[in-house]
Amino acid sequence: MLKVGLTGGIGSGKSEVSSLLQERGAVIIDADKIAREVVEPGTPGLAAVAAEFGDEVLLPDGGLDREKVGSIVFADRERLAALNAIVHPLVGARMQELMDAAAEDAVVVHDVPLLAENGLAEAYDVVVVVDTPLETQLDRLVARRGMTEQDARARISNQASREDRRAIADHVIDNSGSLDDLKAQVDTLWEALIHRA
Ligand code: ADP
Repeated sequence: MLKVGLTGGIGSGKSEVSSLLQERGAVIIDADKIAREVVEPGTPGLAAVAAEFGDEVLLPDGGLDREKVGSIVFADRERLAALNAIVHPLVGARMQELMDAAAEDAVVVHDVPLLAENGLAEAYDVVVVVDTPLETQLDRLVARRGMTEQDARARISNQASREDRRAIADHVIDNSGSLDDLKAQVDTLWEALIHRA
């Protein structure tokens, strides 16, 4: 199994690259997505969160009120630790399940938004960075995600710089061009990854 860490700044096109890799046969492990799945209605994870934080963190439809939980843990490290103590082991177990189910020659791509920020490069055989100029990142966040330019700039400046990310990359995808350009680069990357796997 080849363990690939995929990262990129917000609006860089990381999710786009992740789905292109999935189309080509990669097994995708998206920790943020799994973290949502383990507290979906009817899960033991959600029951544990409700037992810890009270039914006030449940929405009328039985789902988790993320804003409410966020507001509780935001300013309280102990409450945050309590939440993590529930969610992290569930996420870890689910990730392990996905890895165990993958074929021996699989390319397993971990989608890790804060790979550079958290110094996680060593955990992967290959680090792939999606690199996009600031203006393009801003355009995409404003036009496609409906963010204000100010909000988009603030979020980008809270993350690692392009230079920091490129410094840990084994492979850089330049997403300054069209979607067709991006696909062509993902094709080249995919060939290299299956060759190594
Ligand atoms: P990220 O996951 O890095 O935050 P996304 O992959 O969601 O970013 O990309 C942000 C938006 O820009 C999405 O709507 C995506 O479809 C679009 N996008 C990504 N790459 C390109 C590209 N090369 N050309 C045009 N739109 C793109």
